[in-house]
Amino acid sequence: MPELPEVETVRRALAPVLEQRYIAAAFVGRDDLRWPLPPNLAARLQGRRFTHVARRGKYVLMTLDDQNVLLLHLGMSGSVRIHDRAPTLGRHDHIMLTMADGEQATSPTHYVVLNDPRRFGWVDLFALSTQASYKLLQHMGPEPLGNAFSAEYLQTAFKGRQGPVKNALLNQQLIAGIGNIYASEALFHAGISPRRKAATIAGGRAVRLAAAIVKTLRAAIEDGGTSLRDHVQPGGEIGYFVQRLAVYGRAGEACQICTTPIKMLVQSGRSSFYCPRCQR
Ligand SMILES: [Zn+2]
Repeated sequence: MPELPEVETVRRALAPVLEQRYIAAAFVGRDDLRWPLPPNLAARLQGRRFTHVARRGKYVLMTLDDQNVLLLHLGMSGSVRIHDRAPTLGRHDHIMLTMADGEQATSPTHYVVLNDPRRFGWVDLFALSTQASYKLLQHMGPEPLGNAFSAEYLQTAFKGRQGPVKNALLNQQLIAGIGNIYASEALFHAGISPRRKAATIAGGRAVRLAAAIVKTLRAAIEDGGTSLRDHVQPGGEIGYFVQRLAVYGRAGEACQICTTPIKMLVQSGRSSFYCPRCQR
């Protein structure tokens, strides 16, 4: 599932294509993805202009000139493709926006397609004035790359939590945007066991973990930028290939620090990967 760095990569690819451009035509091929799509979505998008493309946690938030926000979550298998010529849509291409510099579709600049074979993704449309109280965003914790995030914040947020630190990192109400992959990676770089009780993340450990989270996410966003340049050919899928992972998906391989084989452990039904020697 795309996590903060992959969603940020999508946002960066979409921003120059959408911002200040008009939706000359909107195609919506279904009534639902994971959940029902907003009623009359195509008609409500048609003729609108995007003013700003932002990200919060794992959501892309695209503000329109009518003060509505188009929200996108890629779910498990969603992807966005940007074409400069009208593509032939396949059966998993559920939404297409034809972008133009004016309200008329006479000379489209781009075609933005949402593809989602498993349909675990979702799209919503709501008033910008309700964004702060919007159900999926209302209780979301701070952005780990934002000013509100720090070792002190982490220590306070994890205080009294008896569950494992790995699960606390996945809790979107504590920190936004981290999923299974970057939780394992950040814990490895901080030298902290995924099994350690969250409440014990304090002092030097909190400093190490906060720094590892920021460093891991920033490196992945940089890789995303690289994959964008390499893989978004006109008409290509936005590349959010996960790269340079130290432990995730590497059970049995040698730890890059001490060569001990990486182990896998299932916590709350989700895999964690760690070095049993380097992480305590
Ligand atoms: Zn190791």
